[in-house]
Amino acid sequence: MKAEILTVGTELLMGQTVNTNAAEIAQMLAEIGAGVYYQTIVGDNPQRLEEAVRTAVRRADLVIASGGLGPTEDDLTRETFARVLDAPLERHEGWAQQLRERFARRGRPFSDNNLRQAMVPRGGVLLENDNGTAPGIYLQHPGVVVVLVPGPPHEMRALMREKVLPRLARELVGNRQGAVLISKILRVVGVGESKAVELLEPILSEQENPTIAPLAKTAEVHFRITARALEPDEAHRLIAETAQRIRDQLGDAVYGEDDTTLEKAVGELLAHRGLTVSTAESCTGGLVSHRLTNVPGSSAYFIGGMLTYSDELKVSALGVDPVLIAQYGAVSEQVAEAMAAGVRSATGGDIGISLTGVAGPGGGTAEKPVGLTFIAVADQSGVLCRRYQFWGGREQIKLRASQAALELLRRHLLDDRGG
Ligand code: ATP
Ligand code: MG
Repeated sequence: MKAEILTVGTELLMGQTVNTNAAEIAQMLAEIGAGVYYQTIVGDNPQRLEEAVRTAVRRADLVIASGGLGPTEDDLTRETFARVLDAPLERHEGWAQQLRERFARRGRPFSDNNLRQAMVPRGGVLLENDNGTAPGIYLQHPGVVVVLVPGPPHEMRALMREKVLPRLARELVGNRQGAVLISKILRVVGVGESKAVELLEPILSEQENPTIAPLAKTAEVHFRITARALEPDEAHRLIAETAQRIRDQLGDAVYGEDDTTLEKAVGELLAHRGLTVSTAESCTGGLVSHRLTNVPGSSAYFIGGMLTYSDELKVSALGVDPVLIAQYGAVSEQVAEAMAAGVRSATGGDIGISLTGVAGPGGGTAEKPVGLTFIAVADQSGVLCRRYQFWGGREQIKLRASQAALELLRRHLLDDRGG
């Protein structure tokens, strides 16, 4: 199957928006074994869009177009495909009604322009978009399958994953009823991408079905396992087998699956152990607390946090000895340990966790470079501190530091099992 990805938008052509959709769609198509032969970018210009659409439907068996499905005059994708494929637009009354109701619920005025988003080329299937007003469209035309998805990346992603890929997989498995495509993500922390890929080499080299795609994130790696089968049970069985092989290799570096964030995994451990935690943050500006509280139900184990950015507040709020700060500096093992112990006793929590570091870009010295961070965990048996050297810009360093703190806490809880 020859696939072409057509991304529409002048902002992509000008480089103002990075064309992440094309890359993501190409990776998704690879998962189901569809080969991408062409990627085209075209601006919001009627003549050039029409030319690009004509070329794509002529040379490819599958055309996935993203963008230009909005309600405004310069959103031309739907109209252009309808014209080129000679499939006149017809109104999908169900979607028109849904749009009216959505607008009414939000008290927004509904105009005729909005109804353009309920138009579907004849013979096309409307794919409901739960995240936006422009639905996707799946059109099986003689000689070519055409899929239209909206431009906003999170809308494109959800539609592709939930509606388009399963349909395409069905086609690829030879049109047999009930063919399914199911994915699972394993989330890995504490092992870098290249190391993880090296450890998994034997499994990765023989992958075919399921496929395994490594995705490097900030301070963690995800492995997406995708299985194709005729029945869901069979796909799940294939995935479970591969997931187990990966877990056997990586051990508890695999902290969770699918939507389980690191903060959620940590929260589950805390809840399970019946322990509470509080935070004392400096360089991360409250990011660790923010992440812990992103998890519903975190009040069961998160007592609170202190954001002690200045030396004075480290002393007055956490009881850090000013002599330690004068002698070793605020970014030091000694101060991190005093902060963790201090917040633990101030809040009465079981565990105190602290961070102090140089987030940059300025303020680094030869002895204490940008990215140097100390993270400490205190519990009833004492304090443990670790030294880290992070890299990247300020926000990256903050994110990596928060990740390391959550991971240190997770390790602490795992090692302390049953203790
Ligand atoms: P809308 O209904 O929101 O108008 P649309 O289908 O018309 O959707 P666009 O207007 O083309 O989509 O794009 C909407 C947003 O998605 C913009 O912020 C745009 O920068 C972003 N976007 C569009 N195409 C891509 C792409 N290929 N890669 C990354 N971002 C994209
Ligand atoms: Mg638009």
